[in-house]
Amino acid sequence: MDLNTITDIVRPSGRDELPAWRQGDAFVGGGTWLFSEPQNKLTRLIDLSTLGWEPLRVSDQGLEIAATCTIAQLDGLAAPPSWIAAPLIGQCCRAFLASFKIWNVATVGGNLCMSLPAGPMISLTTALDGDLRLWAPDGGERRIAVADFVKGPLSNELRPGEIVRAIHLPRAALTRRTAFRQISLQKFGRSAALIIGTRDASGAFVLTVTASTPQPYQFRFDAPPSADDLTSQIDATIAGNWYDDIHGLPAWRRAMTLHFAREIRDELGDAP
Ligand SMILES: Cc1cc2nc3c(=O)[nH]c(=O)nc-3n(C[C@H](O)[C@H](O)[C@H](O)COP(=O)(O)OP(=O)(O)OC[C@H]3O[C@@H](n4cnc5c(N)ncnc54)[C@H](O)[C@@H]3O)c2cc1C
Repeated sequence: MDLNTITDIVRPSGRDELPAWRQGDAFVGGGTWLFSEPQNKLTRLIDLSTLGWEPLRVSDQGLEIAATCTIAQLDGLAAPPSWIAAPLIGQCCRAFLASFKIWNVATVGGNLCMSLPAGPMISLTTALDGDLRLWAPDGGERRIAVADFVKGPLSNELRPGEIVRAIHLPRAALTRRTAFRQISLQKFGRSAALIIGTRDASGAFVLTVTASTPQPYQFRFDAPPSADDLTSQIDATIAGNWYDDIHGLPAWRRAMTLHFAREIRDELGDAP
């Protein structure tokens, strides 16, 4: 839709061309959310796509995903064969309620900044121990784990004027075995529960719960726990914090989460 309070659009080609941050500014990733509803408090847009960041960089350290990398570009990654966690990337990309336009335009950084429970890039990058590189408006930089960044729907640790520059996934996480479960009320609906398990060569087991809760929860064990220990720990930690919206009732989200957690424990529970 037209955003008719906007009086200025800035298209920087480098960090030195970013304007001083002011009230009423918004960064544009793909713009799929920004242009989907009125933004009456905004007066200026700063387009990040013109910064020309390389979408994906593979190295011995792991994968760096530029915040402006689109879902389609991420899905097209040719991962090294040793990255056995790589199928998780396509599974999470497809967990999007995504039209052709969203698939090709929405960015990984935009999805993280929205911080919606059904944000599949949050699920992916939390489960693979991602951390964010943030650019501060004063020229500085800081890092934060994705698991600590997302606070709840439309709420996160981003400070005014900060930009998500990139997301780093460490090689160690990309070489883990993974298991993925997702459910929506409708075939192409928003995720109501998206649960990911990982297991490394030492046997350590991590379960990441997303979509059924307002923010991600992680459960870490040196070895897969019993099904009863796992589900009672999930219940005790999440307690009454199951997400409630039109895409699923809290009791159903809890039931699906515990069911998937048990399935994932069984799937990854044999020899590491
Ligand atoms: C039909 C439809 C279906 C959708 N389905 C889903 C879904 O299933 N799951 C889901 O999570 N979302 C969904 N969305 C919401 C949204 O489209 C996605 O979250 C998308 O990933 C947002 O990415 P974007 O690049 O388009 O963000 P934009 O719209 O460009 O920006 C979103 C917000 O993030 C800020 N921002 C963007 N990039 C940065 C950056 N690098 N640094 C700092 N701030 C930044 C913007 O200022 C804005 O506040 C849907 C939207 C529509 C219209």
